[in-house]
Amino acid sequence: MNDCIFCKIINGDIPSIKVYEDEQVYAFMDITPLSKGHTLLIPKQHVQDLLDMPAELASHLYRVAPIVAKAIYNAFTPDGMNTLNNNGAAAGQTVFHYHLHFIPRYGEEGLKWVWE
Ligand code: IMP
Repeated sequence: MNDCIFCKIINGDIPSIKVYEDEQVYAFMDITPLSKGHTLLIPKQHVQDLLDMPAELASHLYRVAPIVAKAIYNAFTPDGMNTLNNNGAAAGQTVFHYHLHFIPRYGEEGLKWVWE
């Protein structure tokens, strides 16, 4: 998709810090991290949100999710991690290319924002 930021990242038109890549998905560091190691996992195919995602692609993406989570744990040694995905503007989605957030957590720091 021409005007999609995440498609531009996949194409290499916008730089990113790669965490994981295979033929179907790409993971990279969030540009405005909510915590140290905040990472996004996206499909290379442009799909708007979870409702738009073919089952096979969702299956592959969620097979990869633990690999990405372990890489973040190895690199940043957080105490815990939130994984979440916003679907639709009403749910807080701002980039309309599906992405799964990995948000490492350190102690009690910043626990509030997730639940507000
Ligand atoms: P959303 O609110 O769930 O749609 O999350 C969008 C995420 O994309 C936010 O955490 C942004 O910081 C992140 N983001 C937006 N543009 C870029 C970029 O160019 N590189 C990396 N992350 C980005």
